[in-house]
Amino acid sequence: MKYISTRGNYKKVNSAEAIKLGMVPEGGLFVPESIPKLNLEDLKNISKENYQEIAKKILSLFLTDFDSKEISEIVNNSYGENFDTKDVTPLVKIKDNLYILELWHGPTAAFKDMALQMLPHLMLKSKEKVGTDKTTLILVATSGDTGKAALEGFKDIDGIEIIVFFPEEGVSKVQELQMRTTTGINTKVIGINGNFDDCQTGVKNIFSDKILATELAKKGYELSSANSINWGRLLPQIIYYFKAYFELVNNDKIKIGEKVNFSVPTGNFGNILAGYYAKEIGLPVNKFICASNKNKVLSDFINTGEYNKNRDFYKTMSPSMDILISSNLERFLFEITGHNSEKIDNWYKELNKTGKFNVDDETKNKINKIMVAGFASEDETEETISKIYSETNYLLDTHTAVGVKVVNNYNLDGKTIVDSTANPYKFTGNVLKALTGESEKDEFVAIDKLNEKTKVEIHRAVKGLDKKEILHNETIRKDEMKDVVVKSVK
Ligand SMILES: *Cc1c(COP(=O)(O)O)cnc(C)c1O
Repeated sequence: MKYISTRGNYKKVNSAEAIKLGMVPEGGLFVPESIPKLNLEDLKNISKENYQEIAKKILSLFLTDFDSKEISEIVNNSYGENFDTKDVTPLVKIKDNLYILELWHGPTAAFKDMALQMLPHLMLKSKEKVGTDKTTLILVATSGDTGKAALEGFKDIDGIEIIVFFPEEGVSKVQELQMRTTTGINTKVIGINGNFDDCQTGVKNIFSDKILATELAKKGYELSSANSINWGRLLPQIIYYFKAYFELVNNDKIKIGEKVNFSVPTGNFGNILAGYYAKEIGLPVNKFICASNKNKVLSDFINTGEYNKNRDFYKTMSPSMDILISSNLERFLFEITGHNSEKIDNWYKELNKTGKFNVDDETKNKINKIMVAGFASEDETEETISKIYSETNYLLDTHTAVGVKVVNNYNLDGKTIVDSTANPYKFTGNVLKALTGESEKDEFVAIDKLNEKTKVEIHRAVKGLDKKEILHNETIRKDEMKDVVVKSVK
């Protein structure tokens, strides 16, 4: 299996190279040249397996330059004691035909762990195979969940160092403390006096600085990315779509081959794209529901065919979905157009120039065959949390609530699974307010109050976080980011 660029501007590479490079150096994203298929018989054969075995099967379809021993090692290192349940991603029924897929049982309480617990192991093996002797320096600009998940994944991994930049004003108290208390000999966490765009622009400038790259190379370093532009972050997310489906089959909720729907709270389009790949491999899916918050650039696109980022940006109670440029949409459009890199190239040039583009009717119709889309306002998100809790006793976080709300816009055939992307204690203030109307300023008091009211167990990622030692307390100006990188490799 080879990997090609969505912009048609790079040679074919094998998976180890695609993962090590992260992104196509000339611009564009790596995608598999073709999608491997599993038929119903194949599905039946793996349906009784545990998470790890399903993972090995899926990985082996895409990582054909890895042998089975290497794949086993990667999987076993990625999904073990670091998850607090043997199931890895439990499926919970909350209503007739409505299921919640809990993707937050990893170390940081957000679904980013599903990929970032595996990416470091994938990257390490990829480096081995490509044969580089350089230390990899991972740079991350984060608005919240990715930073901590990347730190937990990469800490104490040989041959890799990681620096996370986050906006001082842009992350929640819990998110900031999660990052600043990170242990590990190869981790650095830096606050920026600025917003998320400043962080992201700073990191992008560092990546495109050719002189710096040469300087780093002389010192034995090369840069890489842990963002969802890396194929190695997408691939692990395909696994849980199969696992969730098999769970329904094994519990006699559906017959194998019966179609289900998935509702996905969406930001960068990575999670829902992984679901699309699962369907293309052969998972019986009726529709994907693309659920947006008030920043509904994606659901507007799916409903109108126009992608338009020229609009107000809102800070919402589901901050991990506050995004106007969804980088993985490019991969989806590439697949939907039958690998038409010319179209992709034109659309994205248009997006760069004018902030928007329109797809043709044929493309739009193809999208609508497999995907519907809607959004939840802030009020609707709150209402959904309180309604579901009072009806079912199940506590949703602010992102998952968006996914649940949008399901109700449609009357889809079959069972629907909502991807739950965060544990409610990661966004406690807003969840508590949704339930009680009370605004509690102190996040840790809010955590205790929510626990007292609901008796839902506090996730280990936030429990006692306010008493942990601060190990990284540096804050810098945005124009000092490059200096930090240069100094860190001395
Ligand atoms: C990252 C994130 C999302 C959005 O996922 P994408 O793959 O970017 O669409 C949704 N919810 C939470 C809690 C997240 O951390």
